[in-house]
Amino acid sequence: MVDAMNDDELRKRLTPEQYHVLREKGTEPAFSGKLLHNKKKGVYVCGACGNELFSSDKKFDSGSGWPSFWDVANPTGINTKPDRSLVLKRTELVCSRCGSHLGHVFDDGPKPTGKRYCVNSLSLAFEERK
Ligand code: FE
Repeated sequence: MVDAMNDDELRKRLTPEQYHVLREKGTEPAFSGKLLHNKKKGVYVCGACGNELFSSDKKFDSGSGWPSFWDVANPTGINTKPDRSLVLKRTELVCSRCGSHLGHVFDDGPKPTGKRYCVNSLSLAFEERK
């Protein structure tokens, strides 16, 4: 596994756009992400460290403009943190292994969880699995 906590190494390996979202809590423009309309079967992993985060069978079209999932692939893959950067209080999603920023989770998702994990395409890498 790559040492994802090594910031110099990450700066070299990631694009400036990926680095900004993952390491500086940026947000990609809505409807800009290359994984937004991805419908292939597979797993979505952390773009910085490769930690398995989401699965294609729990992805849905939320209309928000960001890849959206109604559940995580594995309960230990993601940590949540309160985000008070906007007046609207949000819950931030971070990779449990490397601490990189992924997106936010909201309570307006579909059944059975009612959750909407709203994730930047730039925070993810996709691994196709048949
Ligand atoms: Fe990670």
